[in-house]
Amino acid sequence: MSNLEREPAERTVCDGPVATAAAPAAEVLEPREVPLGGPRAMPVRRSLPNRYRRMVGAWCFADAYGPTDLTAREGMRVPPHPHIGLQTVSWLVRGEILHRDSLGNEQYVRPGELNLMTAGRGIAHSEETPQEHTPILHGAQLWVALPDAHRDGPPGFAHHADLPRLPVPGGEVTVLLGRVGDAESPARAYTPIMGAEVALTDAVRMPLDPAYEHAVLALDAPLTVDGATVTSGAMLYLGRDRAGVRIDGPGRALVIGGEPFEEPLVMWWNLVARTHEEIVEARTAWEDDPGSRFGEVHGYNGARLHAPTLPNAELKARPRYRPH
Ligand code: MN
Repeated sequence: MSNLEREPAERTVCDGPVATAAAPAAEVLEPREVPLGGPRAMPVRRSLPNRYRRMVGAWCFADAYGPTDLTAREGMRVPPHPHIGLQTVSWLVRGEILHRDSLGNEQYVRPGELNLMTAGRGIAHSEETPQEHTPILHGAQLWVALPDAHRDGPPGFAHHADLPRLPVPGGEVTVLLGRVGDAESPARAYTPIMGAEVALTDAVRMPLDPAYEHAVLALDAPLTVDGATVTSGAMLYLGRDRAGVRIDGPGRALVIGGEPFEEPLVMWWNLVARTHEEIVEARTAWEDDPGSRFGEVHGYNGARLHAPTLPNAELKARPRYRPH
């Protein structure tokens, strides 16, 4: 997934724990619809960063898409583009996506399996609907900010097809990152964090770690979360100090959470950094000599993506949260 907006409207900067809810909250984060690629491309519903809240734990970006019938339209087609300072979490409910990266990985993402790419100092990848594909595409991609100690580390990629699944009354929980109860994901994370899919046939009481802040992202039909209606692609922010949350299905949701991420974050296009200068440096490397820092993606049929023009103003820290 890539942020393909030619002129990313928001200068997205997250700055410390200033406004992290220290108590339970129930705040609906409505998504905005963003086209992924050209005019015929697939629209995605982006709930993070949100106008009012930019992060949940270290989660700093959330796109949900579909279910989309691909018999009448082009599927996903995201040419090679760079990332720094983050992990991408790719998750499908239906369909398939082919990932290729500059480390030489070529990997399908399929429902119930996790593709976890760690950008570190720099990686490039492409994501596309393969030639041979099933008709319906439905999924999400989220980004996790890497902490200072790891953001300049080497890039990596992992595919997890055997995530822990936890039957619960009213549904089933699959643990993508971190732990839920006694079930722990084998996927590597770099901050105290969790992410899980909940497939609901009925109402589920999802256990939560009170030390984390959490949010619930609805992946399909409107869900009722803690009594609030959350439409497909929207998120309900829950704050901290909760031992659990009730989600009423049927449907599917992603529950994300983590310790509030306290490092100031500058996020622009597909790059997560700490300063304006770091963004400029990464953008210049991608435009002038991509191989030196990001490597090369082989096998994608088409040209790489170019970075948008930087805004005139310097990218500066802004609060993680601002009141409505
Ligand atoms: Mn991407």
